[in-house]
Amino acid sequence: MRLSRYFLPVLKETPSEAQIVSHRYMLRAGMIKQSAAGIYVWLPLGFKVLKRIERIVHEEQKRAGHIPMLMPTLQSADLWRESGRYDAYGDEMLRISDRQGRDMLYTPTAEEMFTDVFRSYVKSYKDVPLTLYQVQWKFRDEIRPRFGIMRGREFYMKDGYSFDLTRDDAMHAYNRHLVSYLRTYERMGLQAIPMRADSGPIGGDDTHEFLVLAETGESEVFYDSRVTDIRLGARDIDYDDKAQCQGVLEEFTSLYARTDETHDEAEFATVPEERRRSARGIEVGQIFYFGTKYSEALGATVADENGQQVPVHMGSYGIGVSRLVGAIIEASHDDKGIIWPEGVTPFHVGIVNLRQGDAGCDAACEEIYTALCGAGLEPLYDDREERAGAKFASMDLIGLPWRITVGPRGLKNGVVELTSRRTGESEEMSAEDAVTRVAEIYAPHHEAGAVEPMAGRSFHTWL
Ligand code: ATP
Ligand code: MG
Repeated sequence: MRLSRYFLPVLKETPSEAQIVSHRYMLRAGMIKQSAAGIYVWLPLGFKVLKRIERIVHEEQKRAGHIPMLMPTLQSADLWRESGRYDAYGDEMLRISDRQGRDMLYTPTAEEMFTDVFRSYVKSYKDVPLTLYQVQWKFRDEIRPRFGIMRGREFYMKDGYSFDLTRDDAMHAYNRHLVSYLRTYERMGLQAIPMRADSGPIGGDDTHEFLVLAETGESEVFYDSRVTDIRLGARDIDYDDKAQCQGVLEEFTSLYARTDETHDEAEFATVPEERRRSARGIEVGQIFYFGTKYSEALGATVADENGQQVPVHMGSYGIGVSRLVGAIIEASHDDKGIIWPEGVTPFHVGIVNLRQGDAGCDAACEEIYTALCGAGLEPLYDDREERAGAKFASMDLIGLPWRITVGPRGLKNGVVELTSRRTGESEEMSAEDAVTRVAEIYAPHHEAGAVEPMAGRSFHTWL
C-alpha cells in the first residue's frame, strides 16, 4: 500500500477522552473513531489488525478441529425464554421489538442459538463430539463502556460451543480449547495466563479466564510468578490426544493463578513469598464447562449406544477478538506509539523515502516495494512529500515492527537501512538483503498460518 493512496487519518493531538494508552494510540493512529458510547467505527488500519487477529483465531480453531459457522446478531426472544435467560440476563441485554411487536434481542452470547442448531440436526451419539464456533459481533449494554474498544458495548468475539456424550469427552473439549487458546495468543505475541475464574451468569463448574498482565487491566489477579515462565512454543500438538491436551492443561494450571473472584488467601500463602504476585490483568478469553445445563433446558439430547436419549455435555469458549487489539497495544508500546508483534501487524514493513521526488530514491523504493510484495509481504510505503521527521513519527506511532529507510546518502554507498521498531536498532545493508531479511523474519508466521493456504500470496489476499 502506498500511503499517498491510503486512508490513515493520524491525529497530532492526544485526544483528551482517552484514559489508557491503547485507546489513545488507537485514536491517534487512525484505527478507530467513536460513533456512540461503546460503539466504534473501525477505520482501515484498525480493521486490518482486527482481521489479522480474527484470522489467527480461525486458523487455530480449525487446527483444533472446530467448525466455523455464523449466527444472526438479532435473535428472537423465544429461544432465550426457553433457557430462562431472557429474564435472567438483565439490563446488559439489548432488547428490541420489531414492527409486529415481537420481542427480539441483539445477541450478547450464543449458547441458546448453537444449542438450538444442535438439537435440530444431531440425533445420535455417532455425530458427537462436535464443536461449532463463530466470530461475530456481540452487544452488551455495559453500564460503563470505557477504554475504547476494550470495554465496548458492541464488540467482536469468537464464541465456540462443544457438544459431547460424556463428561470425560467434554473435558477433552475443554482441554483442547485451552491448548488452542494458548497457541492463539502466543501467535499474537501475547502471554495470556489461564487463571481459575468464576462462571458468572453462564453458569458452570470448570472455568478459566485468560489474562494479559497490564497495569490498566480491570481484573485483579494473584499468581505464582513461575506461571509467567511457561510457554507452549512450537511443540507439536495432536488435538485428538486426550492425554497430551490434559498434560498441557496441568502444566499451565497447576501453579497458583486466580482472579479475585476465586482468590484464596490461605492457598496463596502456600506459594513461596518471593514468588507471590498480585497484579492487574486484561481478560482476553474464557472457557467454560457447564455440563448439561443448556442441553437439559433446551432438550438437546442424543440417542446413546443403547438407544437411550441423553442430554449432551456442553462447554462454551470465548475470545475477545476486538478487545485483543487494545490488549496487544497495552502489552506492547513505548512513548512514541504502538509496537505491533509480527503476528498481527497491519503491514509487515514500512518503507520511508527520505527524498520523495529524487529519481534514485523513488526508483529504489519502488524496487523494494515490488520485491516485498513478490515475497508475499505487505509493505506500507510512505511516498508522501513530507519531512523525514514527520514520516518517522507516523511510522513509530502506527508501530510497524520493521522499517526500511531509503535516502540519497545511503544509496550512494549502495545501502538502505533496516530498523527494528522494538529495539530501535538500525543496520545498513543492500536493498536486496533488506528484503530477504524481512521475508525471513516473517517466514514462521506464514508457516504458522498455512492451515488452508489460499492460492498465491496468502498473507495479503485476506483483506
Ligand atoms: P468481562 O468480565 O470483561 O465483562 P465477560 O467475562 O463478561 O467479560 P465473556 O462472556 O467471558 O465476557 O466473553 C468472552 C470474551 O469477550 C471476554 O473474555 C472478553 O475478552 C470479551 N469481552 C467481553 N465483554 C466485552 C466488552 N464489553 N468489550 C469487549 N470485549 C468484551
Ligand atoms: Mg469472561
